[in-house]
Formats: sequence, C-alpha cells, structure tokens
Amino acid sequence: MTEERPEWPPPELDFSKPTIARAYDALLGGKDNFAVDRELADQTALLIPGLRESAVENRKVLVRGVRWLAGEAGIDQFLDLGSGLPTVENTHEVAQARNAKAKVVYVDIDPLVGVHGRAILAENSYTRVMVGDVREPAEILAHEDVSDFLDFERPVALMLVGMLHYLSPDVADGVVSAYRDALAPGSYLFMTSLVDTGLPQQQELARITRENLEEGWARTPAEIEYHFGDFELVEPGVTYTALWRPDGPVDPDNLEPGEQLGMAGIALKKK
Ligand code: SAM
Repeated sequence: MTEERPEWPPPELDFSKPTIARAYDALLGGKDNFAVDRELADQTALLIPGLRESAVENRKVLVRGVRWLAGEAGIDQFLDLGSGLPTVENTHEVAQARNAKAKVVYVDIDPLVGVHGRAILAENSYTRVMVGDVREPAEILAHEDVSDFLDFERPVALMLVGMLHYLSPDVADGVVSAYRDALAPGSYLFMTSLVDTGLPQQQELARITRENLEEGWARTPAEIEYHFGDFELVEPGVTYTALWRPDGPVDPDNLEPGEQLGMAGIALKKK
C-alpha cells in the first residue's frame, strides 16, 4: 500500500531570504525560522533597543485583547489577519478557553503558516487556517474558509494585530475600510501597529523592515486611530501596547524602550 505524504519542504518555501512571519518567530525565540530569519532578527535587535521585548509585548496584548473580546465583549467569531506562526497562547486557544465554541480563522501570506495550519486543523474543528494576502479583502472575505465558516450577519472580531504596519500608505485605507464595511454592528476591530511618536528608533525599524521584508511603516497615533474609521474605541483608546488593559500596574512615565515601539486599540462598530 502506498502512503500519500505531503511534500517536504513544500516547494513554495523559500529559505534564501527572510520572511516576516519567520523573523518575528525568531524574535519571539520560536523554532519555526531559518538562518536568514535569525540573522535579520539578531542584526535588527542590535540596532533597535528593546526589539525582542516589543515582540513579546505585542503577543501579550494580543492575548489580553482576545481574552477581553471572547469574555467581556462576548465575541465568538474571530478573523485573525496576518496571524503569524503558531506560538504560545494562540488566538484560538485564548478565545476557546473562554468559549469552547468560538470560531477562529487564521489568514497569513506565509506558506509555512499553511503548513502548520494542517496540524491545528487536525485537532480543532472550530479553527480554520488559510494562506492569503490581506491586501486582497474581496478574495479573503469570499474564500470558503471565511464565508462558509464565519457568519458576517453576526458580530466578528477582525484582528490586524502586528499587521497594520505591513500595509503601505497607498493601500491601507482601502484595505482596512473594506474589512470594516464587511462587519455587522456589534463587531470589533483589534489592531496593533508600529508607532511613530517621534522616537528615532521607530522610523529606523520601519526603514530596516522595508529594506529587508518589503513592507514596514510606522504610523503616528492619529494615523492608527484613523484606520478605526467611525468605530468607537473602547477604553483606554489607542495606547502603547503595555498600557492597553495591563494585567498589573505599568508606569506610563517609565516605559522601557521595547514598550515604545507599538500601540494597540480595539473599537466597536456601532451601526
Ligand atoms: N498577528 C501575529 C501577532 O501579532 O503576534 C503575528 C504578527 S507578525 C509581526 C505579522 C504577520 O503578518 C506575519 O506572519 C506575516 O506573514 C503576515 N503578513 C504580512 N503581510 C501580509 C499580507 N499582505 N497578507 C497576509 N499576511 C501578511
């Protein structure tokens, strides 16, 4: 009897240059990365103080945000755009710990996320993983893994966590507004982004990211807020990630360098 095995490595995986998902995984100390990704992560971390810590802070706010959405906000459908490689405390684990029937669709452009997706799918019927380009909202929203699985007549949490800064200024408005328009009232938009509050390392990180990974844009807090459209920001608004509903006390006047690279916000679609 012949056994059908997936081809390994899949031909679409390119080991010769770094990818966003794998370099981020390297920053987080994960194992789903290759030498080129680790080199980029190491070199960038030398230039940008607190880079690794900022990646960890981003994951922490993702967990707090999803916990809040699945808990207090009562959301049971999540569309996680630019979801990244599986790590500790993934969106579906955090949401399903609050509500075992919460549905999660992960979308990422990195083929390695698709490879790992098969493993997640095998053990979780409330989760889907698809490889797709977030910059193509019509295709993503019409894809059967999204449209047959999530009910857009009901509230959905749409996540662009650690993802907004990979949308260039010429496409971001059209892309984010298309997703906002697709949501029913009662839905939430959850975004985190590299921020520009005037510290040189923020634009420097954006530049290094663009140079090595094609996209990378630091936005002012007002520019980040702009992408929430007419949605109503929940407290505390758009803040440094460490200050968004922290689990313990954080002194806003004494943030570490790694706590000043990213901002987070969640907003409600009221009508
Ligand atoms: N959301 C996760 C988090 O916050 O921990 C991962 C964030 S990681 C910094 C950004 C992810 O966005 C990467 O996995 C990358 O592959 C993905 N990404 C970047 N541009 C994308 C695009 N145009 N379409 C889909 N995914 C994209």
